[in-house]
Amino acid sequence: MRRIVVAIDGPGGAGKSTIARRLAARLGFLYIDTGAMYRAVALWAERQGLSWADVGIMEQLAQAADIKLSSDPLKVVLNGEDVTEAIRRPEISQGASKVSAIGGVRRALVDKQRLMAESASVVMEGRDIGTVVFPHADVKIFLDAAPETRAERRVKELAEKAPPPPPRESVLSELQERDQRDRQRAESPLLQAPDAVLVDSTSLTVEQVEEAILKVIREKIANGKEFARK
Ligand code: C5P
Repeated sequence: MRRIVVAIDGPGGAGKSTIARRLAARLGFLYIDTGAMYRAVALWAERQGLSWADVGIMEQLAQAADIKLSSDPLKVVLNGEDVTEAIRRPEISQGASKVSAIGGVRRALVDKQRLMAESASVVMEGRDIGTVVFPHADVKIFLDAAPETRAERRVKELAEKAPPPPPRESVLSELQERDQRDRQRAESPLLQAPDAVLVDSTSLTVEQVEEAILKVIREKIANGKEFARK
């Protein structure tokens, strides 16, 4: 059967991970969180006391990193070590955003991402999937939401993992700082591909977003026949 690529791009907190994971499970596709790969490189650098601004060294780390992603259970393994939780720290979010602006880091990780999609259909989420990684993806979604809503979701997510909730204001400014860096960088900035379908999740539930995207997928591929499982 033909391999299918569903690309989901958008800023942090728009709901990409939740939705991409659910869609992948529903469709029987691989779920690939490319942000986790940039986070893994940032974590590795931090642990070795290396600067995220060191272009040459960051590129070497990105090339050498052995990153394995699994979705059930959700796991990120870096050089044989489970770093699923460690890469979610706020400092690592900023570090990922910094190392991801380096062209050589992007090229190394994009190569790995393309390889991951060679043997299976995938739902891949990130910032540049529909624009750079798979410009010919079968389905392209740009998932967005109002900044306050995105911050609110992040606060809830962080509070569930480790209460008490962090201050909303600091989460919002952290998200905005990262967004701005991701949108303004020269290498593969965050932007909506011209042929991507915009889904604004601000006032939608997870189920509504999932249904809206499934509708797009069904319209674009096989008249829904391949995906009649649920
Ligand atoms: O999606 P997540 O918040 O985990 O991504 C962390 C950071 O990695 C983003 O802020 C962005 O700078 C970078 N990233 C990227 N390209 C991707 C995925 C993530 O530049 N495809």
